[in-house]
Amino acid sequence: MSQPASPAPDNCIFCKIAAGKIPSRKVYEDEDIFAFHDINPWAPVHFLMIPKAHIASMAQVGQEHEALLGRMMALAPRLALAEGCRPYPEGGFRIVTNTGAEGGQEVHHLHVHVMGGPRPWLKG
Ligand code: AMP
Ligand code: ZN
Repeated sequence: MSQPASPAPDNCIFCKIAAGKIPSRKVYEDEDIFAFHDINPWAPVHFLMIPKAHIASMAQVGQEHEALLGRMMALAPRLALAEGCRPYPEGGFRIVTNTGAEGGQEVHHLHVHVMGGPRPWLKG
């Protein structure tokens, strides 16, 4: 069971980025999904994919989000290649979604980290 969704807080930085109210280096945008470069990259390629709608974390995901999350996962490899990750299997990328305090989540708007490029990386 997912935890109940809460309304978007007024101060959600990723809601503001998705709405263009805070500048970001955009990677991709459609009606439901926004992707932008992480401001503090751990890897040569490091961008974040977010739903435009506010979902606090993976803990709030329910059946109604299956299509959205499926689209995000299917889009990630395309964007990774477009952003400079080398093709699988020599290249590839890492997908990470931190959830909750013990999961290392700092920004409480669901986001998928997509990281890649030649190693070593700063982290991960
Ligand atoms: P997490 O720890 O999974 O919640 O990751 C939050 C990520 O958001 C970190 O990697 C930050 O560097 C990144 N971040 C925070 N603020 C911004 C911003 N304004 N633009 C781009 N990335 C950001
Ligand atoms: Zn938000």
